[in-house]
Amino acid sequence: MFSPRPVIIAGGGPVGAIAALALARQGIPVQVFEAEARVNDNPRAATTHAATLEILNDLGLVDEVIRRGLIEPKFRTWNREPRQLIVEFDFGVLKDDTRFPYVVQCEQHKLATMTIERLRQFPHASMAFNARVADLVQFEERVDVKVETAAGVHTISGSYLIGCDGGRSTVRKALDIEFEGYTHPERFLVLTTTFSFDTTYGECSRNYFADANEWCALFKVTGDDGNGLWRVLFPTRSGETDAQALDEGTVQQRLQNFFPKAGDYPVVHRNIYNVHQRVAAAFRKGRAFLAGDSAHVNNPLGGLGLNFGIHDAVELADLLGKVMRGEAPAETLDSYDLRRRPLNVEYVQQQTIANKKRLEEKDPAVRERNNAALQATAADPAAHRAYLLRASLIDAVRKAKPA
Ligand SMILES: Cc1cc2nc3c(=O)[nH]c(=O)nc-3n(C[C@H](O)[C@H](O)[C@H](O)COP(=O)(O)OP(=O)(O)OC[C@H]3O[C@@H](n4cnc5c(N)ncnc54)[C@H](O)[C@@H]3O)c2cc1C
Repeated sequence: MFSPRPVIIAGGGPVGAIAALALARQGIPVQVFEAEARVNDNPRAATTHAATLEILNDLGLVDEVIRRGLIEPKFRTWNREPRQLIVEFDFGVLKDDTRFPYVVQCEQHKLATMTIERLRQFPHASMAFNARVADLVQFEERVDVKVETAAGVHTISGSYLIGCDGGRSTVRKALDIEFEGYTHPERFLVLTTTFSFDTTYGECSRNYFADANEWCALFKVTGDDGNGLWRVLFPTRSGETDAQALDEGTVQQRLQNFFPKAGDYPVVHRNIYNVHQRVAAAFRKGRAFLAGDSAHVNNPLGGLGLNFGIHDAVELADLLGKVMRGEAPAETLDSYDLRRRPLNVEYVQQQTIANKKRLEEKDPAVRERNNAALQATAADPAAHRAYLLRASLIDAVRKAKPA
């Protein structure tokens, strides 16, 4: 039924793994090449929204995601100094819109790992670690991909190539596609601690703290042992180097300033990330596509980047399946770029930029207005639901559906 040439996927992060599984489940041969020796387990995405849980349900992954994660229906925004609750939103109001009226906090390395395990059940799917996609050449009927491994450089022919190789994507660069947008001057510092904030924040594990000097965010995840970890996210200060931000004394002081407690914080991970708002000028060139962070990057406030990337992966796998089975003409593939690109700008870039702006707002009058607007939204049932349909990407999925 299919061309013997596999779909080649560059990058075995969560988006590459999901794209591969969505293709393999349709019987399409697929080969994933991952540059690193193992799945990256740095603390990055955890928040998995309703629209994505629906997709993971279709892929047979949702039960494990829920089992290894943490269900959280609410999120709260606070004033940091003095500490005051501004507003609480509750995804429970979406109970008639989704089977999953909450988020699941499940770390992205768990999702990638469980997806790769499922992928291994398909004989027509393969996943190679320590295999870096270095270049590509396109032909009318195939794409040749240069893969570097310890054994040497190999050329693999595929029917299509999906670049799921992250924000610094080699595939995007090889295709000479611009990554349009900007990089924030500050980096984001993520401190992970075994200290439990449960006594104060146990009722809601997703919290944002607005502040003119130093906003921050506090989230709970289950951790690998299921015992629970809290992540506190801060922006770096103007002129602060990575070494200064990661210094033990600075780390302790930042945490104590946020939440004073007796004794030092046990910090198990400290990570610094550059933060961008960028969208690739095209998500497709010929037989090569971009999905996930290779196509778009954004600040993590709202937890949208990976969610949208997973939506890219399944939408593209569906289109490729239809075209490869001869159920749709090849031009159908154009719709991937035509729909996903503007959707990312409208739902992911706009929301994450607005979320960051609100948290860091310096003008007291504007903060006051923003807070009043958020409170009015939360107090009105129709507006509350509308806000969360957008925040959970359910709106984006509904809009993405062909008429
Ligand atoms: C602090 C933080 C918190 C976040 N929180 C959230 C959240 O709660 N919710 C959310 O939706 N998003 C969140 N994000 C964003 C999320 O982490 C990313 O969107 C996500 O990692 C994208 O997945 P990906 O598979 O596209 O890329 P990546 O996770 O970057 O994976 C790319 C993979 O490709 C491999 N690779 C790179 N180059 C090559 C090559 N040439 N050949 C082969 N392999 C290659 C890499 O080794 C890597 O394994 C957060 C990000 C940060 C920094």
